[in-house]
Amino acid sequence: MLEDRKPYILNCDRCSHCKWTPGARSNAFAQSCPSIYYGNFHAYSASGKNILAYGLIEGRLGYSEDFLHSVYACSMCGACDAGCKWNHSGVVEPLDTLYALRQRLADDGQALPAHVEIMQNLRMYGNPRGLAGNDSLQWADGLGLKEIGNGHCATYLHVGWENASGEAMWPGLRVVAELFRRAGFDFGVARDERSTGELAFDLGFVADARAMAEEAADRIRAAGVGTIITCSASSYAAFRNVYPRLGIALDGIKIVHVTDAVEEVLAGGLPVHAATRAEKVTYHDPCKLGRLSEPYVRWDGESTTAFNQVNITNPPRPVLFGNKGNYESPRALLRRMPGIDLVEMERSKAFSFCCGAAAGAKEAIPEFAEKAALHRLDEAMATGATTLVSVCASCTGHLREVAARNNVAIQVRDLFELLADRITAGAHA
Ligand code: SF4
Ligand code: SF4
Repeated sequence: MLEDRKPYILNCDRCSHCKWTPGARSNAFAQSCPSIYYGNFHAYSASGKNILAYGLIEGRLGYSEDFLHSVYACSMCGACDAGCKWNHSGVVEPLDTLYALRQRLADDGQALPAHVEIMQNLRMYGNPRGLAGNDSLQWADGLGLKEIGNGHCATYLHVGWENASGEAMWPGLRVVAELFRRAGFDFGVARDERSTGELAFDLGFVADARAMAEEAADRIRAAGVGTIITCSASSYAAFRNVYPRLGIALDGIKIVHVTDAVEEVLAGGLPVHAATRAEKVTYHDPCKLGRLSEPYVRWDGESTTAFNQVNITNPPRPVLFGNKGNYESPRALLRRMPGIDLVEMERSKAFSFCCGAAAGAKEAIPEFAEKAALHRLDEAMATGATTLVSVCASCTGHLREVAARNNVAIQVRDLFELLADRITAGAHA
């Protein structure tokens, strides 16, 4: 409940660490929050949104166009939270307040029309774009893969609707399946994968998020697998962070991102043919694969206040700093591709700058999403890289569209596309 956030909101001292990247290396790329970068006014920052939440709780503010614009010109990327905790550990946790604020707005019927449309599509089609009749196994045509169910396989290769519906991803998915088969994995895939609920959660439609998550979790449990390898950054965040928030347990099933599994297979010495091609590459950390995938630990202790302002939790409440996301495997895979010179952007890993597409922002306030992506593309260009790589269909799709619309001279590619171009699973080195 939003009211439960009041003690945390009151701990905000408006220090503005939620706006800036700790240890920034230049003025040009010092900002961490795409929202205030876009709105350039305190209300757009996490601190400002927390103040709006406080105004609602206290009955001092009502809804207005400006209020909603400040809240929703935001990709729920969590950079504010990582920056705030750098200074304040877990006493403010602005992202948790943003989740509660969006839930209040959705409950009060204040969701923007674009978000309402996304929710209708999610409920009806299982994806936000309203893609009907999407055969989620087209990518695997002719591979003869098993389908999960009734304990047929030890591992579920979860592809995710966003990868299964994007033809550009299919060759990379086929390489992954071939690698796993040659490595001896006992895995299966599933038809008709639907959203795992994280987008509905980001939009504040928590009851819908719970229904979608429960449906996905029931299906996973019924399959009798011990491991899920997911190719979806947002589902990885859902399984590790959102489901524990919703109280949904996956019964000890191990959650692995595909980059970890592929890296493990290649590091284990599976012979492959890897094409050598010189290319200077920089890597964009998807927020969902990075700081937002840090495993959430539910806490049911007692909270008291000492000296009228110091929060004391008993037992100590775990704090998520955002540094336990998946940062290394995608980089390790890129370094493994002969000829790739991997260079880092100024903002990376837990303090990576969001592309602006997530949490319904691209659909509802496209100028916000465009401005964030252009800023990220500038940062990529500043490294001298000719290719910007990510491993999230939403990030790469958005960055690629914005680069093309604005004649930004950098190639944007998904790691799956590079895998398909450079690694041949069936041939030997
Ligand atoms: S939300 Fe955190 S980082 Fe931002 S102003 Fe408040 S205390 Fe500072
Ligand atoms: S979630 Fe991201 S865009 Fe939203 S306020 Fe925090 S840093 Fe800014």
